[in-house]
Amino acid sequence: MAIVKASRTHPLYEELVKIVGEAHVNDNPVIISSYSKDACHLEAERPGIVVMPSSVEQVQDIVRLCAKTKTPIMPAGGRNGICGACLPRIPHAVMIDMVKMDRIIRIDEDVMTVTVEAGLRWAELIHRLDEAGYKLGFRGPYGGNVGTVGGSVSINSIGYAASKYGPSTEGVVSLEVVLPSGEVVKTGTGWNPDAKIFGRYSTFLDLTGIFLGDHGSLGVKTKVTLKIYPKAEFYAYGDFGFKTLEDATAAFLEVQKLGFTEELNLLADRQSTDTFFPGFLDKHKEINSMFASIVQEVDQELANRKMEIIREVAFKHGGKDLGNFASQMHWSEMFNLVQPLYNNGFWLNTCHLRPIPSIPEIMKRMWAIFKKYKLLDNGIKWIASCLGSDRAYATGWITIFVPTRDKMELGLKAWNEMLDAHMDTGACPYWSGLLWEKRAVAKANPRFLDLYWTIKRAIDPSDIFTPGVFTGGE
Ligand SMILES: Cc1cc2nc3c(=O)[nH]c(=O)nc-3n(C[C@H](O)[C@H](O)[C@H](O)COP(=O)(O)OP(=O)(O)OC[C@H]3O[C@@H](n4cnc5c(N)ncnc54)[C@H](O)[C@@H]3O)c2cc1C
Repeated sequence: MAIVKASRTHPLYEELVKIVGEAHVNDNPVIISSYSKDACHLEAERPGIVVMPSSVEQVQDIVRLCAKTKTPIMPAGGRNGICGACLPRIPHAVMIDMVKMDRIIRIDEDVMTVTVEAGLRWAELIHRLDEAGYKLGFRGPYGGNVGTVGGSVSINSIGYAASKYGPSTEGVVSLEVVLPSGEVVKTGTGWNPDAKIFGRYSTFLDLTGIFLGDHGSLGVKTKVTLKIYPKAEFYAYGDFGFKTLEDATAAFLEVQKLGFTEELNLLADRQSTDTFFPGFLDKHKEINSMFASIVQEVDQELANRKMEIIREVAFKHGGKDLGNFASQMHWSEMFNLVQPLYNNGFWLNTCHLRPIPSIPEIMKRMWAIFKKYKLLDNGIKWIASCLGSDRAYATGWITIFVPTRDKMELGLKAWNEMLDAHMDTGACPYWSGLLWEKRAVAKANPRFLDLYWTIKRAIDPSDIFTPGVFTGGE
């Protein structure tokens, strides 16, 4: 940040420099501009100034300064979200960039937890745990080479290994949060200063849960404690193809319910497979849908046996064995496979959660929209993918790729109809952000939102954290 000199015009510039040093504060328009976008096409206000703390004490001082001056705060992690969550809704906000807080504080082998600073990126955490002989449950969103642990658990991110372990938030044992007052709270067994951080639920209520998925609106997460597991080095991979999406979905549901797979991914139609793995289905003209399954175990025979059972389920539903290219590629290229999809153009995603049996019905709605707007004729490809999650629901990762700016208007029309179709059919987005918020707030039970605002007003009476978030733009 220091290479581009600060403008020094933001009213808090000098005070922030006193807290973190000159190299870690910047209000130059070039820097601000680079902090004004995440990985999606949506736009909001630019922050007024960016500050990079490197300790919880610095975060406390920044928050206290903002509270005293009633300056809005927007916490940010890797700014790799695809829903505009980290973009301020009002001007002049102080953006707290957490990526310098990226240390692993402790791997606690006695209670099988790892405590990290919230700005740590998933890819590095996985690597470091692997070296120490451990693995995480949830392994990070598909953008986990940039996305941070704190950012992900603030927006209920979901991705690698969710089929077995659920979304990012399921792996959280405890949080350390700097509240809007500048005070620090530790949740889970952290309420007892003499206790280890080993459990999420104890003695009082689950305060951890209040901060998960809060989109940074209730404070800055400075530390996150996650569950860890012994490293398992044996794999079995399997790709299975089906003539119809109905058959594929029935098999997918049965396999997901078994809880065997580290990851289970369905590609709903040939176009989706072609976009991901061009040519993969060329020799299988009769196949329309497929799923890729990954089993990870502490013993090879155990992994193989589980894959045999998955194969039996697939065959029972008319499945064909397609080998293991897609599943192996997906897993071994963790975090690298999805990024190159930007080569297909800009992503307009509709990521959400839904019960697995509803997949064929929603795909009929999607195909009708793709046809109505002649997407393929206009060079707009899609991926309709579902990732099994926690028992028996799925993330609907249905994205269209707009190749050029002149196709954006058409793409946006189709995309808006897709978003409406998901909302109308009982889908729940995992994150809100600018992408989903208006629709989600309009749909939400008023008592649910009232309760959130009661909590928010109690914790942040001056509304300095993320003002405008969860309002639906009102
Ligand atoms: C190629 C690619 C693939 C992706 N795949 C997935 C995927 O599979 N699943 C998925 O869920 N997402 C995916 N994403 C989106 C993104 O990677 C994730 O959502 C990620 O979790 C965002 O983390 P971040 O650190 O970038 O958060 P940011 O975008 O920086 O912030 C997200 C939110 O968290 C808040 N926040 C950040 N840090 C803190 C903190 N320390 N304390 C309090 N609040 C905080 C912000 O205010 C904001 O509301 C993908 C993105 C790309 C580009």
